[in-house]
Amino acid sequence: MADSNETRRWQYLDQIRRNPGPFNQDSDVSEEALQALGQHKVLVIGAGGLGCEILKNLALSGFKNIDVIDMDTIDISNLNRQFLFRKDDVGKYKAEVAAAFVEKRVKGIKITPHNCRIQDFDEDFYKQFQLVVCGLDSIEARRWINATLVNMVDMDDSDSLKPLIDGGTEGFKGQTRVIIPTLTPCIECQLDLYTPRAAVPLCTLATIPRQPEHCIEWAHIIAWDQEKPFPDLDKDDPEHITWLYQKASARAQEFGITGVTYSLTQGVVKNIIPAIASTNAIIAASCCNEALKIATTIAPSLGLEESYMMYSGDDSIYTSTFKYDRKPDCPVCGGAAKPLAVDPGITLRELLDSFAVKPDMQLKKPSIRANNKTLYMQFPPSIEAQTRPNLDKTLKTDLGLDTGHEIAVTDPAFPTITFNFILSFTST
Ligand SMILES: [Zn+2]
Repeated sequence: MADSNETRRWQYLDQIRRNPGPFNQDSDVSEEALQALGQHKVLVIGAGGLGCEILKNLALSGFKNIDVIDMDTIDISNLNRQFLFRKDDVGKYKAEVAAAFVEKRVKGIKITPHNCRIQDFDEDFYKQFQLVVCGLDSIEARRWINATLVNMVDMDDSDSLKPLIDGGTEGFKGQTRVIIPTLTPCIECQLDLYTPRAAVPLCTLATIPRQPEHCIEWAHIIAWDQEKPFPDLDKDDPEHITWLYQKASARAQEFGITGVTYSLTQGVVKNIIPAIASTNAIIAASCCNEALKIATTIAPSLGLEESYMMYSGDDSIYTSTFKYDRKPDCPVCGGAAKPLAVDPGITLRELLDSFAVKPDMQLKKPSIRANNKTLYMQFPPSIEAQTRPNLDKTLKTDLGLDTGHEIAVTDPAFPTITFNFILSFTST
């Protein structure tokens, strides 16, 4: 009886999978092939707004073996859209609560939660999955997992190719994209589609703030470090946010800037992006349909030709799916050096600051080498101190750089990426 219930439960999904399609023309899909979906190991990154939807959809699409990573705990403000959580869950780990909820609801499914950062795992961990689905609100985390999956590709081993399905939303807008590492454009190739919102050059923060966000970032990055009011910043501790809010308000007043509020402070510090439940549902649904198509080959998925679906709901509704080309000079999947046009009279510090706002870089802590010589390194402290005097030197006259020189830039947030450039001075 239990078995027949189980069969009936999935009868509509199985019917779709048995229907003839571009990839199964004889419609002869065996029971074994239908069962294979249950063995497919999927990793979900993020158990928040998108993550709750993704876990629910994957479970109800027949996936049975899922891991989920999220380092966050549940906040009361999550409850309006993160529907796997209840008031009693506030303070508990999102991954753990979400996994337990879906396991209870969909019998026979195994969801393994990991309450940590994606960076806490190495390639051996990521190797065990056939598919990765991301529901993240952080560009940095996306770039990290993208670089990791591209690096893992071994051309002689097709199992090393892990398709990455990435969903993202902001208010009424969203996107779904499928990355097949080394074969389709990767996230780094498409980085310039996102304007860097959080990355403000340090010199702007330190000297002339123009927006309330600049004052908050100043309090967050500079004042906190100098004054260390508490040992470690806890972004969920109201006392810590209040300290930052007061610092930012004082600075805003000094520069005649209005608009610094407690909730803006919290939003900037936690990098909170406006979230609407229905946009999350739309994007998560399209991510999971692509996951089902990739895992079962019942229909062609995104990624093979067109790889990017954008959804825009803030001016009526518009959606479009397009092909985005791989970049031969992508620092992750390309490797060719890019030309870097700069004024030879600027200082090394100005050059490094420009990497924060350059849409295809967005680096907060860049280190730089030129012609294999270290010009500035953020770590370790001894090398930082040794190379710090270079920051105020000009590129051409003081440091002796010239057009045609090779520059290599790295950042601790992305340990596997090196940005290679060929220097090109704009004037002499
Ligand atoms: Zn790329």
